[in-house]
Amino acid sequence: MKETMYYKKLEDKKVKCYLCPHNCTIADGKTGICGVRKNVDGILYSQNYNKISSIAMDPIEKKPLYHFFPGNIVLSVGTIGCNLNCSFCQNYSISKEYGEAEEITSKGLVSMASSQHDNLGIAYTYNEPSIWYEFVYETAKEAKCNGLKNILVTNGFISQEPLEALLPYIDAMNIDLKGYSNKYYREICGGEVEPVKRTIEIASRMCHVEITTLLVTGLNDNINDIGEMAKWISSIDKDIPLHFSRYFGSYKLYRDPTPIDTLYAARDEAKKYLNYVYIGNAYGIDNNTYCPNCKRLLAKRENEVSLEGINNGKCMYCGQDINIICD
Ligand code: SF4
Repeated sequence: MKETMYYKKLEDKKVKCYLCPHNCTIADGKTGICGVRKNVDGILYSQNYNKISSIAMDPIEKKPLYHFFPGNIVLSVGTIGCNLNCSFCQNYSISKEYGEAEEITSKGLVSMASSQHDNLGIAYTYNEPSIWYEFVYETAKEAKCNGLKNILVTNGFISQEPLEALLPYIDAMNIDLKGYSNKYYREICGGEVEPVKRTIEIASRMCHVEITTLLVTGLNDNINDIGEMAKWISSIDKDIPLHFSRYFGSYKLYRDPTPIDTLYAARDEAKKYLNYVYIGNAYGIDNNTYCPNCKRLLAKRENEVSLEGINNGKCMYCGQDINIICD
């Protein structure tokens, strides 16, 4: 176990963790809400520090990141635990049930990533990487020194100070914006929306950001709320790509899968405010990228990705700046 960053000692061997907005006060022998930061004799330890539960080479599109080195592959790793408690969690075997995990060092992981042919870098994903903070921080620093990109796939529920300390080493993030109301965050996810919005605002100033919203049938698919959410994202930057993901029943929440018509309606509404909106977890959908100005095809996504109309970050046909990072 590794002593954590971002906590303070209280009386009676209690500690207060302020890594995420839960700000847990933890008694001796207990863990915080995330289940992985444990108070042992008045010191807070990370129990998942160098533990890895999942590892794979994934297409960058699977994160999903559609505008960050399209067509590349990235070494993707995850650990155990999560600081939210989404009823629909798709990865509950590692986020909540703490399945098998193996040990690895930061240097070992970076060395593995560097030895993979054509690998873009390391994606910290599968469970929530912010509660793997000490390991991600050390590994991201080491990876950056070795010319690798660092990608966080996160729920964005992290306090401002640790976020700002980590961001200089992070190249891209996909941040879940699970809904647009505190009611939904509190009742379905066990969190609050405002800290996630703050993460999106801060991160979008420091690295490439894309956003994912899982549309859960009958819970967060109100078209007016979707419009408000897209309007808010556009107030930061209308070039931020937004991915609506199709829900299928999982963990503690079993409802009908998101109707395809709902996904199309959400995309149409969001496109009133945003230049790039995609639909994930569903087949037969046009997820190509078109120029927001001249509407010509820029990136074709079928089994593979082909960039057909972008040159030096601009549309080849009309010269419009395009938010796709290729090199
Ligand atoms: S990281 Fe874990 S222990 Fe720390 S405040 Fe968040 S949920 Fe609590």
